[in-house]
Amino acid sequence: MQDHCNHCGPGVNHDVVYKFTKSDSEVIKSQFEICWADIFTVLKCRGCNSVKIKHEDWFSEDTDDTGNPIVNKRYYPSAIFRKTPTWLGSLDNEWHITKLLKEIYSALQNDAPSLAAMGVRAVLESVMIDKLGDQGTFSKNLNKFLEEGYISKTQLVIFKDALELGHASIHRGYIPKADQVIFALDLMESIVHHLYLLEAQAKSSVKGIPPKLTNQ
Ligand SMILES: [Zn+2]
Repeated sequence: MQDHCNHCGPGVNHDVVYKFTKSDSEVIKSQFEICWADIFTVLKCRGCNSVKIKHEDWFSEDTDDTGNPIVNKRYYPSAIFRKTPTWLGSLDNEWHITKLLKEIYSALQNDAPSLAAMGVRAVLESVMIDKLGDQGTFSKNLNKFLEEGYISKTQLVIFKDALELGHASIHRGYIPKADQVIFALDLMESIVHHLYLLEAQAKSSVKGIPPKLTNQ
């Protein structure tokens, strides 16, 4: 059967190693019957041989628009919504921004998009303060970040959107949608990668380039 693999991606062929179904039913007031089931499937990926348990459950009274029971699905270990970037291991483990990043990916693996959105906002704010010091308020930090050329005016709009998503999660009880979280993560990853890894790599790479001769 095809299923999600944390290493290989979605729709990958798996072998069903074991399957166990536990179901039951009950007649209410001798008039109608309700039923429910838990299905546990041990799956082994044919691509990378990793093993996981899929747990599905449904209840006859919890149905969708067409009247069919809604099947809830979860995995152990959790299905990874977003892979951690390969460069994460290059950052200092003790650095507070590294710790925040790890907490964000952990939140995503545990189906906590609001926490992830709040974390993205915390990372972006920490980056601004780390680079330019705390200007006192959030908007002053943002303006300084723009003035000093860390982001362009075009990027500022995207930056504000990502920050707003975190703000809405914190103050308005908003649960972000998957595509909104992906967008905020894309921005956060590109900023951290660019400001803390690419710039340092570029500087060390330039050192190896022979200087230009004056008569050329
Ligand atoms: Zn796999």
